[in-house]
Amino acid sequence: MTDRTNAWTKLAGGWIQVKVPLPFALKWVNSYLLPEEDGLSWTIIDPGLHTDDTIAFWEKTVAECGIAWSSIVRIVLTHHHPDHYGLAGWFQQRSGGAPVYISRIALDAAIRLWGEGETFSDELTRALIANGLAPELEADMREHLFSFRARVSPHPTDVRILEPGGRIRMGGAEWLMVRGDGHAPCHLSFYDPVAKQLLCGDQVLPDISPNIGWMPNADDNPLGSFLDSIAAMRSLEVEMAYPGHRDPFPDFRKRVEQLLEHHERRLAKMTELLGDVSVSAFEMCELLFGPKLRSNAHQLRFALAETIAHLIVLERRGVARRIEEAGRIRYERTG
Ligand SMILES: [Zn+2]
Repeated sequence: MTDRTNAWTKLAGGWIQVKVPLPFALKWVNSYLLPEEDGLSWTIIDPGLHTDDTIAFWEKTVAECGIAWSSIVRIVLTHHHPDHYGLAGWFQQRSGGAPVYISRIALDAAIRLWGEGETFSDELTRALIANGLAPELEADMREHLFSFRARVSPHPTDVRILEPGGRIRMGGAEWLMVRGDGHAPCHLSFYDPVAKQLLCGDQVLPDISPNIGWMPNADDNPLGSFLDSIAAMRSLEVEMAYPGHRDPFPDFRKRVEQLLEHHERRLAKMTELLGDVSVSAFEMCELLFGPKLRSNAHQLRFALAETIAHLIVLERRGVARRIEEAGRIRYERTG
């Protein structure tokens, strides 16, 4: 069972940061509980992934925090990824029907990935094979993708759609909903211009670079969308940012600059690695990260999706050429 040291922390304004355990290298996802003006009810942001451990964790944490389940009146999601969306349906049931709030595009993505009769696991595995995934890893990858279905069920039934650019009242403040793309389609960050606070989900993270979530038949340039999204967010005056992973951090603009630089460095490195002989995204991924990823389907999927996203940007910038032959995609340096 989870180590309960610092499982939850009281923040300014009566907020509670809850570190919900994850069975991945990320270790935890942050859920935030925001007290409402009536002094009785709560809004929860991003409840976490559905596992036996997280259910036991939440039962214990909610009791320790002295919160009644029925006082949770709103479940707000930044994006559709399983470590954020996964427990939304369970929380809805456990709270006695609190509505779930999410953007339309994020909801559609959740249904596409894990809805009844989904074909996405197969579609993504085939797309990764086209990008050079070694055939002996195919079964692992498919199984890994299927394994998420249990971790995102049940799906919520009462869902309210959030419009990017609009406002939502929660935790005693009026929040502007800021759209971000590239990590996940129509990810929402919530900005309070009065207190200069930003609930930034996974759009901007301290210490780690948010994964660029390339998927087949979705955003055709997710890294480009990501760089544009975070560059636009630099105009926000932020005194404290509350991320989906790691801890709250004050220097939001600096972190955005670092992430922009990180991706430019990665693009430069890949330009160097692109030789005269063409490479698949999978080969490029191994040149960058080594063969150790083969033993971890989760890490490999993230690394490969991100490598594809970078190669697409190199192609758009005229540095790389994409060659497709017999359903196999490779890249070579131009000129
Ligand atoms: Zn996350």
